[in-house]
Amino acid sequence: MSDRKKLLLVGATTGYQTRVFAEAAQRLGFDLLLATDRCHVLDDPWGDQAIALRFEDPESAVQVLADEARVDGIVALGDRPAYLAALAAERLGILYNSAHSVRACRNKFITRERFRAAGLLVPTFCRVAIADGPQLAAETAPYPCVLKPLGLSASRGVIRANDPREFVAAFRRIEALLRDPDILRRHDEQDRFLQVESFIEGREFALEGILTSGRLRVLAIFDKPDPLNGPYFEETIYVTPSRQPAETQRDIVRTTELALKALGLTQGPVHAEMRVNRHGVWMLEVAARPIGGLCARVLPGLEELILRHAAGADISSVAMAGDAAGVMMIPIPRGGIYVATEGLEQARSQPGIEDVIITAKEGQKLVPLPEGASYLGFIFAGGNSPANVERALRASHAQLRFEIAAALPVL
Ligand code: ADP
Repeated sequence: MSDRKKLLLVGATTGYQTRVFAEAAQRLGFDLLLATDRCHVLDDPWGDQAIALRFEDPESAVQVLADEARVDGIVALGDRPAYLAALAAERLGILYNSAHSVRACRNKFITRERFRAAGLLVPTFCRVAIADGPQLAAETAPYPCVLKPLGLSASRGVIRANDPREFVAAFRRIEALLRDPDILRRHDEQDRFLQVESFIEGREFALEGILTSGRLRVLAIFDKPDPLNGPYFEETIYVTPSRQPAETQRDIVRTTELALKALGLTQGPVHAEMRVNRHGVWMLEVAARPIGGLCARVLPGLEELILRHAAGADISSVAMAGDAAGVMMIPIPRGGIYVATEGLEQARSQPGIEDVIITAKEGQKLVPLPEGASYLGFIFAGGNSPANVERALRASHAQLRFEIAAALPVL
């Protein structure tokens, strides 16, 4: 019998991140069984013969996995995959997060309730049924506030409102967004609500880590040097290591540990986001998965670390690269049809720039936040200091010019 480790990788799509994990598994000599959402399997691009699951029906999806998979460990890429992975792990008897804990991460209302119960700093928050309409909630909202759908990610549908008029407009916008066919298809109870939270002032950070039986190993703390004050909350720059004083970084780690405990997460990669102001560290959310997609390239070796960990290896002495690194998620400046990017060569040749990748495809419809869910591309930089990395990212971005054609109105 072969003693090769076999891992199950659950991803929403057979996209870039899946391929990087598949390559890392190959390097490590692991067998990787890939499972993805059936609606996103267009072909078999990597020849990986993914198991196609019905993500909107977790019970049947888990049954398929229970029938097919004899594996040593599970890795999930994405929030919905993490929930399926947790259900499957419970069924297969594999060490992973409980489904209960992953469900709490995926629902912004449950997350906030757990944080409040654990004594963490939380904004004033309430959940409003879309069917109840905006009027009553607009009268009592704590201004300035943020409205957000409970179950979307990447800042999709997150809108700041400073007064009742803006509140009603934001509410209507989120209501329309939740009518998107892809969202309706999920039949998710939580998509019938939105959350209202008081606005938390402060600077924003992210933490990448990995849990072993409830113990957190911090892999990186990222500064987000651009102020994120709304009305929409576009992620742009992530830079590591953090330039914050050691004490603030310790507070970020300590609060993340409390948040993980409050949610009940115990195993595997986590990505946490938080704001820091004079009152302390305010957790925004914790996801039971690694940093998304191409952004993971700022942490070389992350995939191998996660796979080895899932296979049961002790990764406590595996070091991560120590250099400063950063990524810029290139925002979509306006909606329309993507035509071309000028200045790529100059952007790539700025000192410290490692790569500039434009992910938008010619003819693709570009939808900016708050409705959109993608970026134009990514800029990666490395260097001897976080300040130089940030400068390089901005200098590179300044070289880029995007040609975006007006989308023809639908008649
Ligand atoms: P998502 O999962 O879609 O990223 P979040 O709840 O993390 O949703 O919100 C996205 C972004 O919106 C955050 O990174 C933050 O910049 C901003 N944001 C969300 N809630 C608040 C809040 N209560 N106060 C201030 N900013 C917020």
